[in-house]
Amino acid sequence: MLVDAEIFLRVSFFICGALIGSFLNVCIVRLPRSQSIVFPASHCPKCKKPIAWFDNIPIISYLLLRAKCRACRTHIPFRYFFVEHFTAIIFMWTYVLLGLSWSIIPALILLSGLIVASWVDIEWRIIPDEISVGGIAVGLLVSALIPGLHKGPATEVLLTGSTVSLILAGSCMGLHLIKILRRKLPFEREDKEIFAVGLTLLALQWTALVAARMIPGLAVYLSALADAFQGVIVGACSLWVTGLLGEVIITKRIVTEFDFKGIVDDPLALLADLQAHSYIDALGNLQPAFREVKVVGNLKLGHAFEPKRKDIFEMLYAVDEGGVMGWGDVKLLAMAGAFLGWQLACVAFFVAPFFGAVAGLVKMLRKQDTAIAYGPFLAMGIVVSLFWGDKVIRWVLQMYSIS
Ligand SMILES: [Zn+2]
Repeated sequence: MLVDAEIFLRVSFFICGALIGSFLNVCIVRLPRSQSIVFPASHCPKCKKPIAWFDNIPIISYLLLRAKCRACRTHIPFRYFFVEHFTAIIFMWTYVLLGLSWSIIPALILLSGLIVASWVDIEWRIIPDEISVGGIAVGLLVSALIPGLHKGPATEVLLTGSTVSLILAGSCMGLHLIKILRRKLPFEREDKEIFAVGLTLLALQWTALVAARMIPGLAVYLSALADAFQGVIVGACSLWVTGLLGEVIITKRIVTEFDFKGIVDDPLALLADLQAHSYIDALGNLQPAFREVKVVGNLKLGHAFEPKRKDIFEMLYAVDEGGVMGWGDVKLLAMAGAFLGWQLACVAFFVAPFFGAVAGLVKMLRKQDTAIAYGPFLAMGIVVSLFWGDKVIRWVLQMYSIS
C-alpha cells in the first residue's frame, strides 16, 4: 500500500511538471518578444488556428501529432516536447530528493524560473526581467512565508551574512565610482538607480535583522527574510564585482552576432560590414582600427546600418571596455539568493564556473567562439546549491578544519 502511494505521488509530480512545462514553453516563446503570456490562447504561429485542448496535452499531443500542426502540417519545434518532458522529470526528481514538505514549493518555482531563463538566454542572450526581477520578489515573499527553506539561519550566520553583503556591496559601489571618475563619465540616472537599489536592499536586510530581535514571535519569519535579502545582495554583488574586476583584467575583446541581435535585423551582415572596415577580424576580435575611431561620427558603416550608428558604436565601445556586463546574470543569481539565502548563493557563484569552464573548453577545442551564454551554467550552479549546497559548505569547512 505504501509503495502504491509513493508511485502515485511520483506520477503526480511528473504530470504536474509536464503541465507547468507546457506553460514554460509559452513563456520561452513570448517573454523575449514582450508578448503577454496569458492572451491570446495557444495557437499555431503559422496558420493562427487555435489549438484544441486535445491537441494541447503535454508530451502526448506532440507524439500523437508527430510534431506537426493538425490544421496546416507545419513542423512543431522539438523544444515543446523537450521542455515539457524535462520539467516533468525535474519535478519528479525534486520530490524524490526533497520529499513531501512545504519547502518543495519554492524549490519548484525556482527551478521553473531557471528553465525559462536558461532557454531564453541560449536563444536570445538575454534573461527576461519578468523571470529574474519577478523571481526576486517571489523569492523574498516565499522565504518569509515558508521559513523552513532557509533552515532557520543561526544568528551568527546572519551576522556574517550582513558583514559579507556590506563588504561586497561596498566594493561594488566603490569600484563603480572609481570607474566613472577614472573615465570622466557623467554620473547618469542609471548609476543613481543602481546605488539606490543597493542601499535600499542593505537597509531592508538590517531592518529585518533588528525586527527579528525585537519581535520574538515573528523571529523565524523575519530571520528567513533577512537571509533572503542577504542572498539577493551577495548573489548580485558577487557577479557584479567579478564583472568590474574583469573590466580591468580581461584583455580579449570579442564581438559576436548576439551583441547586435537587439540592435539590427541582420547581425551577421553587420559583422561582415565591420570586418570589411577592419574593425574586427574573422573571429570577432576587436582591431586597433576601432580604437582609432574616437567619436560616433567617425565610425564607417554600410548604408543599411546608418540609422543605428550610435547604438553600434556604443556596443563596440562597451565590448572594448572589457565586455558587456551581464546584468541578466547578476539579476538571476540575485533571484537564486532570494530563494536560497546568502550562503547557498555563494556556493552557486563558485560552482557555476566549473560547468562554464567545461563547456568553454569543449567549444574552444571545436574552434568556435568562446562567447557563450552564462545563464545556463549559473542555473546548473544554482541547482547544485539547492540540492547539495549544505554538503558543499560542510565539506569546505571541514577541509579548512573550521568545524
Ligand atoms: Zn498550423
